[in-house]
Amino acid sequence: MSAEQKMKNCKFCGKSLPEEAIFCYYCQRELLTRPERPSSGGESNPVNWVAVGVIAVIVVVIVAVLLSVS
Ligand SMILES: [Zn+2]
Repeated sequence: MSAEQKMKNCKFCGKSLPEEAIFCYYCQRELLTRPERPSSGGESNPVNWVAVGVIAVIVVVIVAVLLSVS
């Protein structure tokens, strides 16, 4: 029998909990021991400059067409 089990202490009430516990069994508080986020934050605030450029080109083309029609 392997009595060797990873334990951690609740940072709120100090009780010992299994390492994989995501909330305290005693005080019912979330332990929030999340692993670090994978890779770099890519979807934080993506400014889509490609779309902006495409829209700008379309506007220029429309203006050029309107000018050439008359
Ligand atoms: Zn606790």
